[in-house]
Amino acid sequence: MTTVLLASRNAKKLAELQRVVDAAGITGLEVVGLDAVAEYPEEPETGATFEENALIKARAGARATGLACLADDSGLAVDALNGMPGVLSARWCGRHGDDPANNELLLAQISDVPDERRGAAFVSACALVESDGTETVVRGEWRGTMLRGPRGANGFGYDPLFVPDDAVAQGRSSAELSPAEKDGLSHRGKALAQLVPALRELSRR
Ligand code: IMP
Repeated sequence: MTTVLLASRNAKKLAELQRVVDAAGITGLEVVGLDAVAEYPEEPETGATFEENALIKARAGARATGLACLADDSGLAVDALNGMPGVLSARWCGRHGDDPANNELLLAQISDVPDERRGAAFVSACALVESDGTETVVRGEWRGTMLRGPRGANGFGYDPLFVPDDAVAQGRSSAELSPAEKDGLSHRGKALAQLVPALRELSRR
């Protein structure tokens, strides 16, 4: 049995990774979160890209624990803002993790942007660093359009402001999708799906 550490304390992310592993029929891989290992100093996320930040977190986890470590970094890239908030998504209003304030500021910034230029993408980079130093980095993107006000109560972050392009969403915001519907379409789901071959390989070691 190989253990892979997900460098996160988010139980939803852990469950999502477990679902991906199970759906791919990968056996022999135990997925654990940061709560299951001894505490180690977490590195500041100073990267200029989602990929760099994911690698910073995955390398730190692999170095500290000796386990294979998977980390993700994600955010929203708005076309009319040249890809911002990007890696600053979680702290766009100046404070970390204040979703309502982030949403309010972002809506105000793009209030004059016409409907045909309100495109955006959620982006997720996932990095897997193995104990032999092998590094795999993947990226998933989820295209959509920015609303003019929040809609829906599911999800988190910018979900109430984002309507996915996918026809199955039928114009609902990503906060109006069920968690299972979001998993099947989202940036993180797409990135994790690309890691399946590397995870399968890891499970055979
Ligand atoms: P983290 O990578 O989990 O730290 O997420 C960074 C930030 O990006 C979050 O705080 C959210 O603001 C935003 N974000 C990332 N993924 C999503 C998503 O699926 N829905 C809504 N917001 C997201």
